[in-house]
Amino acid sequence: MSELPTAPSAVAPGERGPARAGLHARAAALAGALVAGLLDWFYPRHCYHCGVPLEESRARILCRSCTEALVAARITGAVCNVCGLPLAAQPVDGVLCITCRAEARHFDLARSFLSYAGPASSVIRAFKFDGQFFLGPRFLAAMLDRGWLPADIGPADLVVPVPLHPQRRRERGYDQALLLSRVVAARLGGRLLVHALVRTRYTSQQSLLPVGKRWDNVRGAFAVRDAAAVRDRRVLLVDDVMTTGVTASECAKVLKKAGAAHVQVLTLARPAP
Ligand SMILES: [Zn+2]
Ligand SMILES: [Zn+2]
Repeated sequence: MSELPTAPSAVAPGERGPARAGLHARAAALAGALVAGLLDWFYPRHCYHCGVPLEESRARILCRSCTEALVAARITGAVCNVCGLPLAAQPVDGVLCITCRAEARHFDLARSFLSYAGPASSVIRAFKFDGQFFLGPRFLAAMLDRGWLPADIGPADLVVPVPLHPQRRRERGYDQALLLSRVVAARLGGRLLVHALVRTRYTSQQSLLPVGKRWDNVRGAFAVRDAAAVRDRRVLLVDDVMTTGVTASECAKVLKKAGAAHVQVLTLARPAP
């Protein structure tokens, strides 16, 4: 606060008292505004999805009706045994989706909390693209508090974030998968291994590419930094959104190659097919 710019003063030399008092008042007002601004940023006054004012509690990020929509977006019905895709969306007999029937997945199992639509997508987009780094961990912790962890997710020895390329981390200012992984490790147990996986090259954002190009985009883009740390371990890979599962599968491939015993994938959401 000591470097606050001072406005020109009309007070004569020797009469600094009132000017200083005014300066203190302005500094206090500015500090108050800063605190209020920070509070509004961390604890928004409006619903992240529809924008209506949030009534009673600063702990909320969505209004009541958007919270209800979120409950409806929870993936709770029949899903593909491997990748967790809701099967109601596909005319498929049995327990595997079309993609998992057609090609091998390197992970053993992937599950998501929510369908990526409506309020869930607004919250995740703000977390991922608008600098709201605190939002993903709060959102994830709230879902875990409600007992929304997909039932098939089993215990893991290691929690590993899907890695972000350092250049993208610089662009975004934080690593969203790492922030989520911290919550997962703290709540579910398992040792957080931050740099188990590294990106060996910069890749285009998967969701911006046609499906046919996504394998080429991530093939060979990951490496295990310390094979001894993952050997014979059960790994829980964490990311924000799983789209085709190509990135998760490529990460699982190098983890398995390094000796990981089992690889599960947990994401906040996945788009409906
Ligand atoms: Zn709302
Ligand atoms: Zn599948």
